[in-house]
Amino acid sequence: MRILVLFTLFISLLSCSAKRDLENKDDLLMKKYAEEIDTEDLKEHLYLLASDVLEGRKTGEKGQKMATNYLTAYYKHLELQAPQKYPKYEQTIPGEYFNRAADKSSANVLAYILGSEFPEEVIVISAHYDHLGKKGEMVFNGADDNASGTSAVMEIAEAFQAAVEDGHRPKRSILFLHVTGEESGLYGSRYYVSHPVFKIENTVTNLNIDMIGRIDPKHEDKPEYIYLIGSDRLSEELHEIAETVNKEHFGLKLDYTFNKENDPNRFYHRSDHYNFAQNGVPVIFYFNGEHADYHRPTDTPEKINYELLKLRTDYIFYTAWELANRSKRVAVDPK
Ligand SMILES: [Zn+2]
Repeated sequence: MRILVLFTLFISLLSCSAKRDLENKDDLLMKKYAEEIDTEDLKEHLYLLASDVLEGRKTGEKGQKMATNYLTAYYKHLELQAPQKYPKYEQTIPGEYFNRAADKSSANVLAYILGSEFPEEVIVISAHYDHLGKKGEMVFNGADDNASGTSAVMEIAEAFQAAVEDGHRPKRSILFLHVTGEESGLYGSRYYVSHPVFKIENTVTNLNIDMIGRIDPKHEDKPEYIYLIGSDRLSEELHEIAETVNKEHFGLKLDYTFNKENDPNRFYHRSDHYNFAQNGVPVIFYFNGEHADYHRPTDTPEKINYELLKLRTDYIFYTAWELANRSKRVAVDPK
């Protein structure tokens, strides 16, 4: 009898700790498709987006439109779905929205994979693709800000799509969202949350990537790090998943310096995830911190650490895979 009691206790302890674990036991599949995230591909996308030809991708201008075309051609080639309302993957935002002439309109680029079990629920993986343009002949290439995040989203989409092609569709939908107008005031993400493709209340999480290809001065000795911002603000469960995925698979140093409520940099308010968080959507903002080339014409592709970019992209992909395949969507904490 006593043994039975002990045994029952043991089992209940076991299942209790299992609850805190990751639910996704398809590690092999996840690892297999992470191989689709290719360091050379990341580099190729990044060099193209940050090249002088694109003239710093200023919102509404010619160079940015070239970036828009590059992204839409890519998703068409991958055969991802375009939203019914935006069959060319472009959510066009009129110029007035940016307080400028109507002919300077610009577009968010969106493509998605429909979930198999909870298609109405969505994980949004976002990165802004606009940058500062040029001053005279001086091009602001924005290699880290944010060709790095843009390339990461593109490769994550390819990895999920490769899984779909082999019959491993995620349980939830995943929207790949390249927003415009970030540098001038988070316009693209604000427009998206007021004109969403999946209902905001069914938007389970926003993973937002803005600058993940460089190393800031603080981490020069130990470059395998990333700043996480916002992960615990709306959902303790999301925060724990981010931690557990890292602990089990990566061992990156997760730096929460900029997540502090009173941090003077206020990064939590300064990239596109903020518009999701304001609407009650749990978010994680992935960021490498500032460096000497931040918002300077010297933010160029040869300064990117591509191995590190791949590692951080893998980490975000694993996190997205877990979030998309859990039996229940992550819970928003009670207020
Ligand atoms: Zn940025």
